[in-house]
Amino acid sequence: MDTNKEFLDNLQISQLPDNVLLIHQIKTSSQFSCSDGLLILPKENRNKVAIAIDLNIEPEYIQAICNTYGPVSDFVNTHAHMDHAAHVYVWEQLGATIHAPNPEARYLTDLYQFYKGYGWDEKHDFSLIQQFAELNRFKACKNIKTFDPGDTLIFENIILETIPFSGHSKSHVGFLLPAEKILHLSCLGFDQPSPGIDGFGPWYGFKESSIDQYLKDIDHAESIYREKTDILTSAHAHIVREPDTDIFDYMRQKIHTRQQIIDQTLRTLSPQLEIEDRVSKLLEMDLFFPKHRIKGFLKDIYAFWESWIIMHHVEKSENKSRGSV
Ligand SMILES: [Zn+2]
Repeated sequence: MDTNKEFLDNLQISQLPDNVLLIHQIKTSSQFSCSDGLLILPKENRNKVAIAIDLNIEPEYIQAICNTYGPVSDFVNTHAHMDHAAHVYVWEQLGATIHAPNPEARYLTDLYQFYKGYGWDEKHDFSLIQQFAELNRFKACKNIKTFDPGDTLIFENIILETIPFSGHSKSHVGFLLPAEKILHLSCLGFDQPSPGIDGFGPWYGFKESSIDQYLKDIDHAESIYREKTDILTSAHAHIVREPDTDIFDYMRQKIHTRQQIIDQTLRTLSPQLEIEDRVSKLLEMDLFFPKHRIKGFLKDIYAFWESWIIMHHVEKSENKSRGSV
């Protein structure tokens, strides 16, 4: 049996202009273990060796990609959430230099830094994150070459501008390929696997995330897309081409709807409650995740994420009501 073909059959490989591919692993062994990314194949007068952009797929698939398209000299990561971090070590083992943004870069080499850096240590033991890492087959990288969000990276004649989108996580970046006119949003929050199919939307389930920053990031992404590119790709979504701009309203609407849900539900709670108690009450209502259906340690993971999503909305609610007094 040709196992290479078997693995390639579970990949959706979309051809973009200028020998750039968007790659998506169709079936995955865990919900949080993969993100779509780009493979920039060799092109005359541009690059002799391929580079990979935030393509975090399972180890066998990375091997199949390298068998098919040849070696990859560099891998560029967008941020260190599990779905972007779990398998990066495989690219390193296959000879690629790994590039990642400060300060999250160090989470790729040390799971304990991942645990501390995203604030899990404030509510949970390290064993929770060890189980989460095992579920997603995470292994640490050995060496990372770091960059700062906003830096421009150059590989042979490939120009890769990194765009800070820090509403999602503190060093989360998107990428602009100006010559190829491609904007890769990574995890900004456009997550419709195909047009019309709904996803969760913008994700701010950590203390460091910010809804206000998110809204600025969406505006920023929209202006880059409208002014400089023809094609927009994401970590968990279908390809968008000019002149389609619906995705920006999709993301804004998701945030707006969640805010309305929180504003309305807060009115049913006693205003005397401390903010933490209000968040706990809202969390028990399973407003965003059906946690009553989730089993084992993942229930704690979801509750952690949702508590921060709720907290950010409750804070916005409070600011609004303070502003209106
Ligand atoms: Zn993320």
